[in-house]
Amino acid sequence: MTTGTENNGNIENSVTAGKGFGAADRGSMLNAMTAGQLDVLVIGGGITGAGIALDAASRGLTVGVVEMQDFAAGTSSRSTKLVHGGLRYLKQLEIGVVAEVGKERAIVYENGPHVTTPEWMLLPLYKGGTFGKLSTSIGLRVYDFLAGVKRGERRKMLSPGDTLAKEPLLKRDGLKGGGYYVEYRTDDARLTIEVMKKAVETGALAVNYVKAEKLRYDENGTVCGAEVRDLIGGAAHGISAKYVINAAGPWVDDVREMDGSKRGKTLRLTKGVHLVFDGGRFPLRQAVYFDTPDGRMVFAIPREGKTYFGTTDTNYAGDTAHPVTTVQDRDYLLAAANGMFPQLALTADDVESSWAGLRPLIQQEGKSPSEVSRRDELFVSESGLLSIAGGKLTGYRKMAETVVGKVVSLMRSADQSWTIGPSMTQHITMSGGDVGGSEQFESFVSEAVRTGAEHGFGKEDAAFLARRYGSNVRSIFEDAELSGKLGDKFGLTPKLAAMLRYAIKYEMAATPSDFFVRRTGDLFFRIAEVRKWKEPVIRAMEAELGWSGEQKNRYSAELDVYIREAVTPAEG
Ligand SMILES: Cc1cc2nc3c(=O)[nH]c(=O)nc-3n(C[C@H](O)[C@H](O)[C@H](O)COP(=O)(O)OP(=O)(O)OC[C@H]3O[C@@H](n4cnc5c(N)ncnc54)[C@H](O)[C@@H]3O)c2cc1C
Repeated sequence: MTTGTENNGNIENSVTAGKGFGAADRGSMLNAMTAGQLDVLVIGGGITGAGIALDAASRGLTVGVVEMQDFAAGTSSRSTKLVHGGLRYLKQLEIGVVAEVGKERAIVYENGPHVTTPEWMLLPLYKGGTFGKLSTSIGLRVYDFLAGVKRGERRKMLSPGDTLAKEPLLKRDGLKGGGYYVEYRTDDARLTIEVMKKAVETGALAVNYVKAEKLRYDENGTVCGAEVRDLIGGAAHGISAKYVINAAGPWVDDVREMDGSKRGKTLRLTKGVHLVFDGGRFPLRQAVYFDTPDGRMVFAIPREGKTYFGTTDTNYAGDTAHPVTTVQDRDYLLAAANGMFPQLALTADDVESSWAGLRPLIQQEGKSPSEVSRRDELFVSESGLLSIAGGKLTGYRKMAETVVGKVVSLMRSADQSWTIGPSMTQHITMSGGDVGGSEQFESFVSEAVRTGAEHGFGKEDAAFLARRYGSNVRSIFEDAELSGKLGDKFGLTPKLAAMLRYAIKYEMAATPSDFFVRRTGDLFFRIAEVRKWKEPVIRAMEAELGWSGEQKNRYSAELDVYIREAVTPAEG
């Protein structure tokens, strides 16, 4: 009898030997992946690929992930950043989905309270609007029931006065009251990296900037690995695997095309844009979810002194790696914001940053972008390529359980004596999540403030770091002397130096954009800080990672493009 771990002793050993997940560990990660046959190769390092890697590794399978950009650089850093309870599914009467995502939301929160924060959401109700008072009251109650919402977070119905007291900026005309319920806010890219770090800690191999260029097949035409290219070092490598999982998000059909199996159902990409405003100009007190005059739902969410607003939903046929905000997207969102918050009279000059992402939805003929289901679906091609498409951040764990479950059943049908345990991810905290459970999170932060002081961090900085990194803040504090030296050398604040060092050493941040866009979210929520600190950060990364002059110029230019696109919409 064999088990998942015993299959590939050589890889298992190299995983154990090279636990590092720093930018300098990319080469050894890739070497370990090519050293023997993996059980599973995952193409794509967004939330879907990260979840699959954790599920597979924690069940004892040997697994490698290749990501052609940075982790989460696709859709998983460009969402509305909510771990949803799935209210929109209720409107579409997808009852089973509401129940499932509601439960998943609770699991994500419990396993990663440092990357998920409960946020009360206000649903204002207007005369002639899409939502009636009674139907909303019943709908939210049904939602609480289906989604298994905890007692303290169950919906409340508000009078017009109470609704305005929660959010005085709301349009007053025709206001009938409001629904009040809880959503969970997240940082999508940090959620992805925390799940990926846990996967690596559990034995997975994962590397960014490595592209699967071609699939490998055995003599029976069964897919058995991929030819990949290291887009930083330039070298080509071959990776062997018993199973290949296509978790390429908006690129799922490109990988199916490589496999010659893009038939039947295909993807439909729709673009979603968000705008960010300074809290001084858009001083929203309360997150609001409302319907636009054209019958779509949009969010306005306060966050770290800013307010972000979105999203659009339009068919997309441009460059998949490079969706951008257009003037039309911006103007549509400004009109929607001014419709609901008329006294603000927001203009294009008030937009401080923005982002655009692509929803990898499964095509449904005759439906508008907003009507297309967000459900996920698993396709298994004739060659055995498993492609997972659609879905949400929220459902990543369940999706991973389904996909790895499928791999396990295929393995079992090939060898009846083979055994492996069930998925355990429901009870696996993500990296940084060891804070004693969600209910202990605030006391964990208070304790971290005391420990931070012992390592020279002020109260505010220590609390910020503890909230962002959860239990990994211990390692940041322990390394304070080393990060302090880095800060002194390049003129960085202690907090920034600590985050930068951690990102390079423990989160495989290989470029300044990795750091400013996906490890910190600064491009979206603190863009002035990016402008202020980009030069010293680039110099520090150049020294730490030994870049060539060409690399330094390329990475600097790439960050400048990100900054420009966040603030200057494209024509159209
Ligand atoms: C505007 C918008 C708002 C959203 N809001 C929410 C929300 O609030 N809550 C929620 O739960 N969900 C939300 N979603 C959905 C959610 O963001 C996505 O379902 C999820 O991020 C998809 O993750 P993924 O890993 O499948 O895809 P991705 O994150 O795109 O990851 C796929 C990765 O595969 C890589 N890749 C592709 N081809 C190759 C190759 N050949 N070799 C190597 N790597 C490759 C890509 O570089 C990419 O990083 C939103 C989506 C959008 C667009």
